[in-house]
Amino acid sequence: AVKLANRVLALTPSTTLAITAKAKELKDQGVDVIGLGAGEPDYNTPQHILDAATRSMNEGHTKYTPSAGLPALKKAIIDKFERDQGLSYKPNEIIVGNGAKHVLYTLFQVLLNEGDEVIIPTPYWVSYPEQVKLAGGVPVYVEGLESQSFKITPEQLDSVISDRTRAVIINSPSNPTGVIYTAEELQELGKLCLEKNILIVSDEIYEKLIYGEHKHVSIAQLSPELKEQTIVVNGVSKSHSMTGWRIGYAAGNKEIIEAMTNLASHSTSNPTTTAQYASIAAYNGPQEPVEEMRQAFEHRLEVIYNQLVSIPGFTCVKPQGAFYLYPNVKEAAEKTGYQDVDAFVEALLVEAKVAVIPGSGFGTPDNIRLSYATSLDLLEKAVARMKDFVETKL
Ligand code: PLP
Repeated sequence: AVKLANRVLALTPSTTLAITAKAKELKDQGVDVIGLGAGEPDYNTPQHILDAATRSMNEGHTKYTPSAGLPALKKAIIDKFERDQGLSYKPNEIIVGNGAKHVLYTLFQVLLNEGDEVIIPTPYWVSYPEQVKLAGGVPVYVEGLESQSFKITPEQLDSVISDRTRAVIINSPSNPTGVIYTAEELQELGKLCLEKNILIVSDEIYEKLIYGEHKHVSIAQLSPELKEQTIVVNGVSKSHSMTGWRIGYAAGNKEIIEAMTNLASHSTSNPTTTAQYASIAAYNGPQEPVEEMRQAFEHRLEVIYNQLVSIPGFTCVKPQGAFYLYPNVKEAAEKTGYQDVDAFVEALLVEAKVAVIPGSGFGTPDNIRLSYATSLDLLEKAVARMKDFVETKL
């Protein structure tokens, strides 16, 4: 066998990959599978953004840019923070990277020494633990209990802090649960992080997808001290339906940003120039398309949530943001004769022809993740299939 580095051997293969590969195999055989695994909006990038990208290319903006991003894009991001959160950043406190995922990767690379711990609430976005491990760090999990809407408390956080703790990750709204922390909850968690001098990595990629009367609050906007203690990570992927453009950014302490910029200068040089011009238009141009997509997601959620929880053995904390539902289906799996939810998910795919993601990959094996970034028509059909499947097996 080829000899590979230990660091990649330690990576956990993506659980979502196995099910997605199997769904694709079935589709290729002509089976009518409905996929609810998507982690991206089902809309095209708004036209004015595409136009800005084309224009920039035609004007000859096709060369390297500064490693941390074009000054004009940094300015657009700074203006966005000011407008949305009342946060003021300087250009040397911002780095633009190739998607929020890449920015987080770079961040852990510059923050962690071998054995440093990063606290990750469960259920978590699959890449956090792997990125921490790739940087030599150790993921330390704290259970976001379903009975607490998957949100961790300061007491829980306190109980896992050690002298090796470097940072805690807050992802609000959350992938996979769609749950949002309130300002009060963030204030309490933040107070503890300040006391114990723990950095806060705030992943706010779903910021623009908020439903009902819920609000997005960045922990960084709660006080100047918390702003100093927090690295905010965000991007245009989910807000402007720009997943393929690969633009994300981080804002925070200038020494951390400078270290990230140095690292980026030797790894990526810069995020794609055309995508940076597109992102300037995304933030400086009209925001109506963002709101239109949000409304469509909200409508789908309202329709599909009620249908989903009418399935016997399904319970679901109602999402407040993002575009995922994260029902607990343990009882449904047990009552229909499956040994665990992973086996139930496999049967849903093969027999009900619906592809969902098992919660085991997110650190909570009793749940499944469904994305509603697909048409209402397909969503209703998929939920009806799942309901039929469960009811005939009971
Ligand atoms: N953070 C969370 C919680 C996500 O769900 C995603 C995408 O799925 C990302 C970050 C990365 O987004 P991108 O790299 O497209 O900016």
